[in-house]
Amino acid sequence: MAKPTGFLEFERETPTRRAVESRVHDWLEVYEDFPVSHLKQQAARCMDCGIPFCHQGCPLGNIIPDWNDLVYRDKWQDAIERLHATNNFPEFTGRLCPAPCEGACVLGINSDPVTIKQVELTIIEHAFAAGWVKPQPARVKTGKTVAVIGSGPAGLAAAQQLARAGHGVTVFERDSRIGGLMRYGIPDFKMEKRFLDRRMEQMTAEGVVFRPGVNVGRDIDARELLAQFDAVCLSGGATHARNLEVPGRELEGVYYAMEYLPMQNKRNAGDEIPASRFISAEGKRVIILGGGDTGADCLGTALRQGAREILQYEILPKPPASRSSDNPWPTYPNIYRVSSAHEEGGARDYSVMTKSLSGENGKLTTLHAVRVEFVSEDGRQVMREVPGSEFAEPVDLIFLAMGFLGPEKPGMLEQLGVELTERGNVRGDENKMTSVPGVFTAGDMTRGQSLIVWAIAEGRAAARGIDQYLMGETLLPIN
Ligand SMILES: Cc1cc2nc3c(=O)[nH]c(=O)nc-3n(C[C@H](O)[C@H](O)[C@H](O)COP(=O)(O)OP(=O)(O)OC[C@H]3O[C@@H](n4cnc5c(N)ncnc54)[C@H](O)[C@@H]3O)c2cc1C
Ligand code: SF4
Repeated sequence: MAKPTGFLEFERETPTRRAVESRVHDWLEVYEDFPVSHLKQQAARCMDCGIPFCHQGCPLGNIIPDWNDLVYRDKWQDAIERLHATNNFPEFTGRLCPAPCEGACVLGINSDPVTIKQVELTIIEHAFAAGWVKPQPARVKTGKTVAVIGSGPAGLAAAQQLARAGHGVTVFERDSRIGGLMRYGIPDFKMEKRFLDRRMEQMTAEGVVFRPGVNVGRDIDARELLAQFDAVCLSGGATHARNLEVPGRELEGVYYAMEYLPMQNKRNAGDEIPASRFISAEGKRVIILGGGDTGADCLGTALRQGAREILQYEILPKPPASRSSDNPWPTYPNIYRVSSAHEEGGARDYSVMTKSLSGENGKLTTLHAVRVEFVSEDGRQVMREVPGSEFAEPVDLIFLAMGFLGPEKPGMLEQLGVELTERGNVRGDENKMTSVPGVFTAGDMTRGQSLIVWAIAEGRAAARGIDQYLMGETLLPIN
């Protein structure tokens, strides 16, 4: 245990964000560096619990109390080894994870939880700076080959584990760059893309071959890949976005979040996008439909582009400030949060349902909505419109950030004929193998839209299943 009295002596502290006035004029990450002396105090708050609920809370089973102790004792190299043992990419989760581990931290029962995520991020950045993160090419090659389709966190984790197990791995990605939603969905102000490139370099040196710009199912038949490779891993995400099915949806000015966000990320990366195609919020009145993280990403992007006014509508009621009685520790706290984008501007409104859109000459001008309430009926929560609460809001641009309905079916999935679950995700067994022998699946493609930490866990599990399938045994870890 780092410091037996640490949790009594030190308060929870998290890194500060750069001043709003300056950060809304650039695309750099919003958080400032966190001094190591402060971080060690935060690690010292860990109580090294007999039953560390943080483990259960983390989908990767990260060995959190161990690294808290090692950081406190300045044993950084041991800390990164312990961290990498369960997580291939702590620099992604350390920046982007909503930290279910912190929601489950025992200290959170009657105090503020340990700042686990920041400890994780500092360990990995310290390790990169010290030159400890080196390629780990397999000493013995198996001669087996695996095609990984989709280069998000699930595909990348699977690819790295498989390459280290000695297999020849090729990652196919239909986009122009590697990284999945981390590359083109998540804005740079949440994670600068140089951190992705740094991992790509390591993986390339470990023998992973990246083939961006190849849409499997269109540019190459998925069955052909299955014939060419000894195993295939489907990690294409859950990119089928939920539509807004109301009159006026077809008007110019209504876009899915994932039509909007990638354009700015591509421009930041130096791609030329003609002004006629580029969706910009500059000088516009913007409404974002959906109160989640994707909506917040649209908000931060629109603010940086110079939107005139931004509203974010959520159909559900405003979450409570602290845990409600049906959301107890150690479940993930569903509470009201102020993300960096919310701190920067825009206004949020809850219990609002869009009824229709109207416009002039084919262009969006107005959103028509009504307020809703949730009432208990036969023990179920039922949504009801509030009579007389209809209102209209002038708007130039609407971004739909209302969730995703699962993987896209045409192309790759239809060609392979893999079985789907009732929810329309790709069904995988306990080894992550689909109904087609030799075809495995990982990440959002099999879970539905989820989190990066889950995608990495899924990718690691699929790699283990594939290794077992190819070799008859596996030494790859379960977690
Ligand atoms: C805007 C946005 C912000 C988010 N922010 C966060 C966050 O802050 N923290 C967090 O934990 N989670 C966040 N998420 C969720 C998280 O990004 C996903 O859960 C995660 O990326 C899923 O990883 P994946 O590898 O399964 O799929 P993805 O990241 O979706 O990657 C799948 C890849 O497969 C490619 N592909 C699909 N089909 C084919 C094909 N036929 N051929 C070739 N390539 C193909 C796609 O182009 C894509 O690049 C966010 C999601 C969105 C949309
Ligand atoms: S639950 Fe919290 S206090 Fe307990 S070991 Fe995990 S991080 Fe430390």
